[in-house]
Amino acid sequence: MRSLVAVIDHVLHGAVLPGCEPRAPNLQENSSHILQELALVRGQACAKRALQIAAAGGHNLLMIGPPGSGKTLLARSLPGLLPDLAENEALEVATIASVVTITGYKTAWQQRPFRTPHHSATAVALVGGGPRAHPGEITLAHRGVLFLDELTEFKPGVLDALREPLEAGEITISRASYRLRYPASFQLLAAMNPCPCGHAGDTGHACSCSPERLRSYAGKLSGPLLDRLDLRIEVPALAPAELLEPQQQATDWQAIRQRIAAARSVQLQRSGKLNSALGLEELQTTCVLERRQRMRLAHTMQKLGMSARGIHRVIKLARTIADYEQRANIATEDLLEAVSYRRCQLLQALHR
Ligand SMILES: [Zn+2]
Repeated sequence: MRSLVAVIDHVLHGAVLPGCEPRAPNLQENSSHILQELALVRGQACAKRALQIAAAGGHNLLMIGPPGSGKTLLARSLPGLLPDLAENEALEVATIASVVTITGYKTAWQQRPFRTPHHSATAVALVGGGPRAHPGEITLAHRGVLFLDELTEFKPGVLDALREPLEAGEITISRASYRLRYPASFQLLAAMNPCPCGHAGDTGHACSCSPERLRSYAGKLSGPLLDRLDLRIEVPALAPAELLEPQQQATDWQAIRQRIAAARSVQLQRSGKLNSALGLEELQTTCVLERRQRMRLAHTMQKLGMSARGIHRVIKLARTIADYEQRANIATEDLLEAVSYRRCQLLQALHR
């Protein structure tokens, strides 16, 4: 600005600064180029369905599959499936972005953040802190997605630091010189190989890992973190015949995006929050199960050795599937689908 008068005009009277004319963001463009990439992922119908359910209720998702099966591409497309941020949410995200001075850290207005910290990241880089109380990756991912690729390569202590923010949606950092709270309400997406060599469960290749190597690999997965990943899905390598098959009729991802937005708004109207954030009391009023369904679930819980937290997460997931299918009540098939996302054979094989 050239003069103090111009400053006063701007602050008191809202005069528009030269070169800073407000411009309506092109929201359509934000999501459509991401969705175009998703259209390039061949096959993987189960993974695509799971991605939609995760998006529809804000649930955390783990993808397990060999290198090159499309896990990263699928993960990157999640922000494109989520509705644009509301004005007040966009302000929160922009405020966070404005206090961070990482070079090249930019966010598009009303677009959800997508953060992909490298597996060498420290706990401070992930959750925040340090001498200057820097917000961490989880705060930069607020209202968006945090993607942890190669989950088993992260140091266990680093992943344990995620437990508190995953429950609370915020992080409290205490140091000798300060104590502060940062928002950290994010959706967690993770990916990993099924074993160190990457070929476990692959019909085309034999796995060359020794039992000891598999055991130590399984040991790198933090149980409490795994418990908080509601959907665990296999993303298998495609057989050559599937790769060569002509592309089936194109999926209308914009229509799917609208369907996801509709399911989310049903939840927000009903409980003021997404299903993934429902508390225990809200669970009882919004996720009512019939006696038959409760008995069936209790049986599954026993068979799978599921924790109480695990069972609550399954019920919330079933509620989301029902919302996505526009059902007022949870159907038994919704419940079964939710349970199926909890039991991943590749994971079970690792822990055998
Ligand atoms: Zn292997």
